[in-house]
Amino acid sequence: MDCVFCKIIAGQIPAAKVYEDDRAVAFLDINPINPGHTLVVPKAHYADLLSTPPDLAAHLMTVVQRVAAAVRAAVGGQDFNLGLNHGAGAGQSVGHVHLHIMPRRPGDGHTLFGGKPYPAGEMEKIAQKIKAAF
Ligand code: AMP
Ligand code: ZN
Repeated sequence: MDCVFCKIIAGQIPAAKVYEDDRAVAFLDINPINPGHTLVVPKAHYADLLSTPPDLAAHLMTVVQRVAAAVRAAVGGQDFNLGLNHGAGAGQSVGHVHLHIMPRRPGDGHTLFGGKPYPAGEMEKIAQKIKAAF
């Protein structure tokens, strides 16, 4: 097994676990954007969100709600970003699906993605393509 999160779940390498149930764990990210940055991870190995069974994906979001509330209380801040990097092109570096709960404060130096408007007519075309892809 060469998956670092599977090794954490199996107890083969240490992690600062903050939550565990029958299907999921949460532990502190080793390289946090702010203190309290927490990863919510299913115990079963799935590479990414779209290969995760929908009921497990739904459970992960339930866990995110509970863990995020605890993280907020612990770090004394109100705000957080919820993140999921899907694939290498989106910055996913660990191939075991996980959600990032990232505590945020005004002026903490982090920025969000910058958006840019569509050229005329392009938004409707993209929307049509997505609707046709279901
Ligand atoms: P991602 O880029 O979405 O795949 O995020 C992977 C995250 O896992 C990064 O933020 C890493 O800092 C974190 N990470 C990698 N190895 C460990 C580890 N052994 N314990 C805790 N977090 C880790
Ligand atoms: Zn794994």
